[in-house]
Amino acid sequence: MAETADIVIIGSGIVGSSVAYHLAEAGCTNILVIEREAHQGKGSTGKSMGGVRAQFSTPVNIQMARYSIDFFSRFDEVVGHPADYRAHGYLFCATNERHLAYLKTNRERQHALGVTNVELVSPEDIAKFVPQLRVDDIVGGTFCSTDGFVDPHSVMMGFMLNARERGVKLWLDTEVTGIEVSPADSSSISSGEDFARRITGVQTTRGRVSTPVVVNAAGPWAAQIAAMAGVTLPVEPLRRQLVPTEPFDGLPQCFPMVIDMSTGFHFRREGKGILLAWNDPEETPGFKTDFDPGFVEKILTRAASRVPSLIDAEVNPQRAWAGLYEMTPDHHAIIGPAPNVTGLYFVNGFSGHGVMHSPASGRITADLILKGNSELIDTRTLGVERFSEGRLL
Ligand SMILES: Cc1cc2nc3c(=O)[nH]c(=O)nc-3n(C[C@H](O)[C@H](O)[C@H](O)COP(=O)(O)OP(=O)(O)OC[C@H]3O[C@@H](n4cnc5c(N)ncnc54)[C@H](O)[C@@H]3O)c2cc1C
Repeated sequence: MAETADIVIIGSGIVGSSVAYHLAEAGCTNILVIEREAHQGKGSTGKSMGGVRAQFSTPVNIQMARYSIDFFSRFDEVVGHPADYRAHGYLFCATNERHLAYLKTNRERQHALGVTNVELVSPEDIAKFVPQLRVDDIVGGTFCSTDGFVDPHSVMMGFMLNARERGVKLWLDTEVTGIEVSPADSSSISSGEDFARRITGVQTTRGRVSTPVVVNAAGPWAAQIAAMAGVTLPVEPLRRQLVPTEPFDGLPQCFPMVIDMSTGFHFRREGKGILLAWNDPEETPGFKTDFDPGFVEKILTRAASRVPSLIDAEVNPQRAWAGLYEMTPDHHAIIGPAPNVTGLYFVNGFSGHGVMHSPASGRITADLILKGNSELIDTRTLGVERFSEGRLL
């Protein structure tokens, strides 16, 4: 018998899993999640640094982070699986007045939206968090104690296991190869509109699935999925590389994620070592997931300039890795219905924030599918139409 589902979710990373969880939690369980890999987490989710923060500059990102961090703090109890949320904080360090003014403006916006625990900190305060940090050129910063880290793989598994316990189906090792869209009906053709095109099913390597609703949760591959339905989605893959050090005790055992705003270099503790990150501005879009050994020297230069003791840290390039951000033109997510295909929903383009925003994005997508709106944010803000209408964030 042909397979049918009320909703098909394409992609079982942290975002698709959160959508499945939130739909199931709202009572909608005839859902099929389709994943082309044999295991979950092979996409961006398994490559993430796991950082979560409410210290954003735009209201929509602050609102989504606020909801998500509160969710992470209750995750184990609510979802029944550990998120490994560690509220170690995020410490932004400014080396010029322009960056400091930016942090102060953001802090006011964060406070106005209910994130009231973001503190302004002096260079002396910063040195107390991480005594090994060079602060001679730092003019100040901000710290938020509820920012921190989660285990992205565990969060993803928690969402999916909970959804499956409620009846959601997961097909692994199954690729979606096509999306079926009915042609526009004659009334819409005569009026010159094409919004009557609607989803009827998906084709997969396991056969056809009949469904009226498809959620595109395909991470960096989202534009390819949208194209299957004849829709252009402005999401591009961009390589990001992370370098863990070997065990290193030249920094405290517990300290916040530290962001050096002069270079964008940031780092946190990961077990006995330190996890080093820096977004190379020379990186170009593309499906590149190989780690470039030349990146080690680039990042260590930035690391040693901010934390001189890191010059002694050992790095094994074999343990470093690369993954893909899913970038949009304004570096904000795209969440909501496709404007010209009824039944197609996007939850894509997180531009480096898909883990930290996963609870909110799952909830908003479930709300939009089941109720047509969400109380969490003004959903028009993240709609894909913002690009054609010139409302970039
Ligand atoms: C190095 C690095 C560090 C990062 N650090 C952070 C961080 O600190 N904090 C943070 O919030 N975010 C971070 N991110 C971003 C975050 O990891 C992503 O935004 C997030 O994981 C996106 O989740 P996703 O579920 O949308 O995508 P993915 O995890 O990529 O999942 C998409 C899934 O879709 C599947 N798929 C694709 N095409 C098909 C198809 N045709 N048929 C079936 N299945 C398909 C893929 O196999 C994949 O499993 C980082 C990313 C990288 C690369």
